[in-house]
Amino acid sequence: MNVLVIGSGGREHALVWKLSQSKGVERLFCIPGNGGISDIAECHDVNVSDTAGLIDFTKKMKVDLVVVGPENPLAGGIVDAFEEKGIPIFGPVARGANIEASKIFSKELMKANGVPTASFRVFYDHHEALAYIENKELPFVIKADGLCAGKGAYVIKNMEEAKGVLHDLMVKRIYGGAGERTVIEDFLPGIEASYLAFADGETILPMPASQDHKPLLDNDLGPNTGGMGAYTPIPFISETMDLDIRENIMLKTIASMKEKGIPYKGVLYGGLMLSRGKPYVIEFNARFGDPETQPIIFKMESDLLPVLVACVEGKLKDIKEIKWKEGVCVCVVIAAGGYPEKPEKGKVIRGLDQLASKKDVMVFHAGTRKVGNKYHTSGGRVLGVTAIGPDYEGAIHKVYDAVERIGFDGMYYRGDIGKKALTYK
Ligand code: AMP
Repeated sequence: MNVLVIGSGGREHALVWKLSQSKGVERLFCIPGNGGISDIAECHDVNVSDTAGLIDFTKKMKVDLVVVGPENPLAGGIVDAFEEKGIPIFGPVARGANIEASKIFSKELMKANGVPTASFRVFYDHHEALAYIENKELPFVIKADGLCAGKGAYVIKNMEEAKGVLHDLMVKRIYGGAGERTVIEDFLPGIEASYLAFADGETILPMPASQDHKPLLDNDLGPNTGGMGAYTPIPFISETMDLDIRENIMLKTIASMKEKGIPYKGVLYGGLMLSRGKPYVIEFNARFGDPETQPIIFKMESDLLPVLVACVEGKLKDIKEIKWKEGVCVCVVIAAGGYPEKPEKGKVIRGLDQLASKKDVMVFHAGTRKVGNKYHTSGGRVLGVTAIGPDYEGAIHKVYDAVERIGFDGMYYRGDIGKKALTYK
């Protein structure tokens, strides 16, 4: 099969890397790709928002399967357009991707079908939102309805802040149409977890649960980022809770969408809060997470290609199980100086060759570009150093040992990825 992966981050490098090991893959393409991906796939510079251009490319290169990484093309209907042409594509149709692209759609779907989530109200009018928060107990959470590159959720600790956020979103419209409607919801204290599952419109196959680290600084301080690291599995979910999440969150959501005439195929990502011993959905994403995909895929022993094909063909039931390597896998993101506000670019990355031969370490590239035989930084999150070890201590030690061998001017990483697992009793 000829396979095309769309995207340019660490998530896509992980997917391309795994697919490159599949016996079923003949030619592997990536649009647009990055420095690391260009070593193992044919990268092409087609504009990702140019669906017609992508369809032409797919026909010309005789692509048999397209795999979509990021949310924007999914929300924009890339899957609908490819399906119309009869080209197999992994990901949900636009109405399915709405589970991520519209908080209102996702909250109302959950409420109507009894999927556990924080209590909420929807606002279309700024004055009504202001009147509602007058008597609302702090803290609470304000969310923009639409896609804001991960920046549309605000945990509110005082009223001044709340008024400022509502003004920015609904009056100043700093995110344009994405913030003109808002959801205001109760704050849920607890532990966050990412629960990803393959879906074929009816059946699911879960991946091992993982945990992201969104804030920039150690101990979850500083501004939110795209994600500074992740690890899998996590010790916070018992077998009983896993079953509860699978049945009462993931399968129920897929079934609720099917009832609305939405065949949800691809990855359903539940961003969960484990609060007072129970799982609640904080948000859904319509795709693989970044950086969760890096440790999950590194841990995957089975071939990825048949699983993706089974999702697209609605035959996930035929895949009896996915095998995962034993142990713990940790990914530490190395970011550029100035990230997330204004990342510096064009720095030469040193030390990658020292890690190339290590079997249990893999460096997934994100914001990199290959110049001659060197890699230069070209984005905010630059690398996702990923290692597998027998237990949490072992994997954390191994990943940081690898991180320390890499160097570029201004590089930054968190020093505490995976450490929440160590303190959990
Ligand atoms: P979201 O974009 O919806 O994933 O929210 C971003 C972050 O805000 C989450 O990762 C949580 O840390 C926090 N958050 C969102 N909603 C809630 C909630 N209802 N209770 C507590 N924290 C929340």
